[in-house]
Amino acid sequence: MTVQTTQVQVGIVGGGPAGLMTALLLKRQGISAVVVETRSQETIRTTHRAGILEDATVEMLTQADIGSRVHSHGHEHEGTVLSFDGERRRIDFQQLVGRSVWLYPQNEVFHDLATAWQAEGGEIHWEVSEVSVEGLQTSSPQISFTDSEGAAQQIQAELIVGADGSRSMCRKLIPEEIRTDHFTAYPYAWFGILVEAPPTHPELIYANSEDGFALISQRSETVQRMYFQCDPDTDPADWSDEAIFERIQSVLGGEDSIQLQRGPIIEKTVLPFRSYVCEPLNWARLVLAGDAGHTVPPTGAKGLNLAFCDVRALIPQITAFFADASRDSAALDEYSRTALDRVWRAQSFSYWATTLLHRQPEENPFSQRRRRGEFEALTGTEAGRTYFADAYTGWKA
Ligand SMILES: Cc1cc2nc3c(=O)[nH]c(=O)nc-3n(C[C@H](O)[C@H](O)[C@H](O)COP(=O)(O)OP(=O)(O)OC[C@H]3O[C@@H](n4cnc5c(N)ncnc54)[C@H](O)[C@@H]3O)c2cc1C
Repeated sequence: MTVQTTQVQVGIVGGGPAGLMTALLLKRQGISAVVVETRSQETIRTTHRAGILEDATVEMLTQADIGSRVHSHGHEHEGTVLSFDGERRRIDFQQLVGRSVWLYPQNEVFHDLATAWQAEGGEIHWEVSEVSVEGLQTSSPQISFTDSEGAAQQIQAELIVGADGSRSMCRKLIPEEIRTDHFTAYPYAWFGILVEAPPTHPELIYANSEDGFALISQRSETVQRMYFQCDPDTDPADWSDEAIFERIQSVLGGEDSIQLQRGPIIEKTVLPFRSYVCEPLNWARLVLAGDAGHTVPPTGAKGLNLAFCDVRALIPQITAFFADASRDSAALDEYSRTALDRVWRAQSFSYWATTLLHRQPEENPFSQRRRRGEFEALTGTEAGRTYFADAYTGWKA
C-alpha cells in the first residue's frame, strides 16, 4: 500500500487546546508542525467541558494574535462565592490579588484555535484512526495513521508532542522503568447538567452542605452549567429533572434564598474524578503536554489552564532544542522540570479544594465540623482568602 509522507519539524498527536496552541505558537517561532486528531472538528466544537480561564490563559489567547473572542464573548469574574451550610462568603479576586478569571467555554477556545490554525494554512488531519508513533529513539520519529478517507499517511518529524488527552497513547511510549505514574482516585463524581435558563447568580457559587457539594456555574445568557456530588457509578437516567434541581437547591440553602433558575435540562453527564501525573513529561524525542501528562479533579478549574501553562513552558524549550544543531535533550528535560513544578502546585490546590468541599463517604460529625472550621479559617482571614484567590486565578510566581 502507498503511504503518503509529510516532512515536518514537530508532529503533534491531538488537536485539543494543548495540541492546537502548541502548533500555533511554534509557527510564530518559525517551527513547522502538523496535527493529527481522531475526532471530528464538529464533535470537539460541540463537547462541553471546562469554562474558567485564568488571566494568563486569556493573555495567551489574546497576545498570540489568534483572534480569540474571549473578550467579546467571555465574561470577566472578579470573584467567586464559597457557601457552607447556606452561609456565603465572597472571595474578591481583584481586591486580594488584582486578577480575575474569565468564563469562556472550552469549546469556544477550541473553535478560536482551530479557526486560527486553519486560517494560517496550518495542516491538521481530523478523524484519523490507527494512530501509532515509532522511532522515538531516532532523529526522525514518525506518526503513522489512516486518514479520514482511508488512506495510509506518515508524518516524519524531529520531535513528537503527545497532546492526546487523559487516555494518552503517547505517554505509554515512555518506558515503564523511566516513567512514574502518580495516581489517586476519589470516591465521588460530579453530576453535571446543562440547563436552558438565565443565570442564577452572576458569579460561580461553590457550595457544601450535609448533602455534599454543588456548583452553580454559567455558560451564556440562556444556558447554565450546574453540578452536584454523586457516586461515580450513578446512572444519569435515574435522576429526574425535579430531583436534580431539588438536590442542588438544598445544597445551596441559605437565608438569602438564592433560587435556582430552572428550565429544560439539555445534557446530563457523570464526571468521575482522578488525579494523575506522569513523571517525567519527556523521553527521547517525545514531550507530553496537557491532560496527556496530568489530570486534575475539576474543583479548582485547573485542567484547561494547566494545558496552557504547559504550552507556555514548552515553546521556548522546543525553540532552544531546534536552535541547537546537536538537538540536545537538555531543553526538553528543562521543560519537564518547569511544567511539573506548576502541575504539582495545581494538583495540591485541586486535591485540597476537592476534599474541603465534598462530603467524604466515611463522614462523621467530627469530619463535617472540622471542614466547617477549615472553611472559617479560609474565608475568615485575609491570608486564607488571598491563598484561594492567588491559586484560583493562577499563581504569577
Ligand atoms: C467531561 C469533562 C469535563 C471537564 N470539565 C472541566 C472543568 O470544568 N474545568 C477544567 O478546568 N477542566 C475540565 N476538564 C478538563 C479539561 O477539559 C482538560 O484539562 C483539557 O481539555 C485539556 O486539554 P488537552 O488539549 O490536554 O486535552 P483534550 O482536550 O482531551 O485534547 C486531546 C485531544 O487528543 C485527541 N486524541 C486522543 N487520542 C488520540 C490519538 N491517538 N491520536 C490523535 N488524537 C488523539 C482527542 O480526541 C482530543 O481531542 C474536563 C474534562 C472532561 C473530560
